[in-house]
Amino acid sequence: MKLISTISFTCFLLFSISLTAQIQIDWLEITEEPGPNGTIQLHATNTGYCPLTLILDFDKLKNFKVKESLPIKKVVPNGKNSIPIATLTPQKNKSTEYSIKLSYHLGNTVKTKHDNDHVYLLPFEKGKKCVIGQGYNGRYSHTGLNALDFDMKVGTKVCAARAGVVIATKEDSDRGCKTNKCKSLANYVLIYHKDGTFASYVHLKKNGASVEVGDVVEAGQVIGLSGNTGWSSGPHLHFEVYIPRENGNVGVKTKFLIEDEKVAHLQEKKSYTAFHP
Ligand SMILES: [Zn+2]
Repeated sequence: MKLISTISFTCFLLFSISLTAQIQIDWLEITEEPGPNGTIQLHATNTGYCPLTLILDFDKLKNFKVKESLPIKKVVPNGKNSIPIATLTPQKNKSTEYSIKLSYHLGNTVKTKHDNDHVYLLPFEKGKKCVIGQGYNGRYSHTGLNALDFDMKVGTKVCAARAGVVIATKEDSDRGCKTNKCKSLANYVLIYHKDGTFASYVHLKKNGASVEVGDVVEAGQVIGLSGNTGWSSGPHLHFEVYIPRENGNVGVKTKFLIEDEKVAHLQEKKSYTAFHP
């Protein structure tokens, strides 16, 4: 087995509009193994915390035939096992050479569906009340985006709205501004759910992530402190649940548990009190 490539490059995580975060992961390993009849098989291993959708093509391919059609798109589940990605057959008695070109998306961009029956908790502490400063498809920065802004003062405890595993965090920024020039300055926590969707909790204060990559979190657990970093017009929490897709993630409207154990879709300018069972 020969290690071809450990991917450790920057991926533009398409958090949509409020955040264009650059996430570095080094979960993906491509190895070369001898296959039957002199073929070469490329395998991928994902040692991370969620599936990755891999796009593989070749920069150079001299005197090889590739069995799969190019580019190869494959979902690589996380875990210890490697999965076959490509089979290369060298032409006899010719000098051969290849080099691969890789990109990936976080999550399974082929098959993920949101569990629309799932009831989310409000992402702040039980009994606390917050106003939706900007709702789904809001005019300030949510045009075409299913995301919610909960107004809250800097330092408010942010709770996981749903259980999952922490995929990425950023907490080194202490800056923000009212234009999209600042969007890469937002601190955040990104959580992966068991139905394959993700939730982003954005604009956290400096050092405001209280979880680490790989942590398993329960719904209602405190994951950080709110802030005003990134593209933001005032202290709030931007919350978004999305389905990973190759051509841009798709945000979804989710149901929340609110006071008196009612379940509701949240609306702009209304205030809601968290009920955590
Ligand atoms: Zn927002």
